[in-house]
Amino acid sequence: MTFLLAGARVVDPSSGEDAVRDVAILEGRLVDPAQLSDDAPRVDAAGLVVAPGFCDLHTHLREPGGEGAETIASGARAAVRGGFTTVCAMPNTSPPLDDPDLLADLASRAAGAAARVRFIGAVTRGRAGEALTDVAALAGAGAVAFSDDGAAVPDALLEAALGAAMASDRPLFEHAEDPALAAGALMRAGPTALRLGLTGWPPAAELACVERDLAAAEATGARLHLTHLSTGAALDAVRAARRRGVRVTCDVTPHHLALTDAWVSGDRAWSWEEPGDVDGALAYDGRCRVNPPLPARDDALALLAGLADGTIDAIATDHAPHPPERTLVPFDAAAPGLIGLETALSIGLAAVAAGRVPLPVLLAALSVRPAAIIGEQRSLAVGSRADLVAFDPVATWTVMPETLASRSSNTPLLGRTLPGVVRLTIADGRVTWNDGILAPRA
Ligand SMILES: [Zn+2]
Repeated sequence: MTFLLAGARVVDPSSGEDAVRDVAILEGRLVDPAQLSDDAPRVDAAGLVVAPGFCDLHTHLREPGGEGAETIASGARAAVRGGFTTVCAMPNTSPPLDDPDLLADLASRAAGAAARVRFIGAVTRGRAGEALTDVAALAGAGAVAFSDDGAAVPDALLEAALGAAMASDRPLFEHAEDPALAAGALMRAGPTALRLGLTGWPPAAELACVERDLAAAEATGARLHLTHLSTGAALDAVRAARRRGVRVTCDVTPHHLALTDAWVSGDRAWSWEEPGDVDGALAYDGRCRVNPPLPARDDALALLAGLADGTIDAIATDHAPHPPERTLVPFDAAAPGLIGLETALSIGLAAVAAGRVPLPVLLAALSVRPAAIIGEQRSLAVGSRADLVAFDPVATWTVMPETLASRSSNTPLLGRTLPGVVRLTIADGRVTWNDGILAPRA
């Protein structure tokens, strides 16, 4: 695989580079353009942005047990279509990933996938919250982190779980939700929930758990990663903990940055726009049900500010594929979660276009910073193995089942036209997505 991307805007958060230049790839490695022979294929990349390959810290691949909604192979294809070269698969499959032999089996199934698939091991056996898994054995089999995502680690096991993860030099990925405070909730508490008559989820359900987790991380010295934060108050707690020296990182999803609880009532304005007209036909759309729930607008704006100022380390998709029969149902019966691998960059670019976050900061949160959390490196420096995405930030596409590589299309963005088309994805020196910009021989 040898070719030249000519005249691209190269944004490399690992070095701070943001410059227009040629990117030369020789047999899968980034080289000085002078090293390419004159007959090497040359791709006009003017107008394209080249960035390090994206890394998703929070992906649900549904294999084993839910292959009708997604598989390792289809999820990996969705990933590279979205510019991701690494996805971290959450362990809440059926059966859950709580066993090193299962991890080894899944890793072998993922060996030929379009993206690198890394695995997050369960914290408790069967995700039942009663006994810890063999964290060291799972780490030895390749688990990059531990989580009981879908639920927080119970009080009685939290310090032991943090200690076990620390002993294996892995972070604990915490779904921070107090089960008592969140019990029965269907959407974010507030005026919209009251008007719709849906039981509300109070922001304290997140903050109480985040404060508990931060205190335990401080007490143990372990690495805590808070996933899918959805409130400004939780971000403030992270800021304060960092000032005390707590080893904490955090991510936020694209839908908590850009969508709001008003979407449940049928609004379709981005969080940074003034609330728009409500379309009653879109109210109670089960595809707007997610845990944690879509935030109040003030919280979405606080999350955008936290992304822009660097408090938020990563954008993670929480890609949660479901078949139509689980989302096109009454709101209280809908399975929580929406797909995100193929829309994450586009939502981020919409926020960039609105002036809410600088492009290099967005790309850092998609690539270099999440990769570092699981011990992967990303760089566009000469000499590095090519692991990158080239995308057109201005071109648009329309979200449709047939334009998605995912087996599922459960997203309230269906039918929407978004900015940002990925033209080329190269994972570990191998072309894994090519939107026609490379001739077949390259
Ligand atoms: Zn979760």
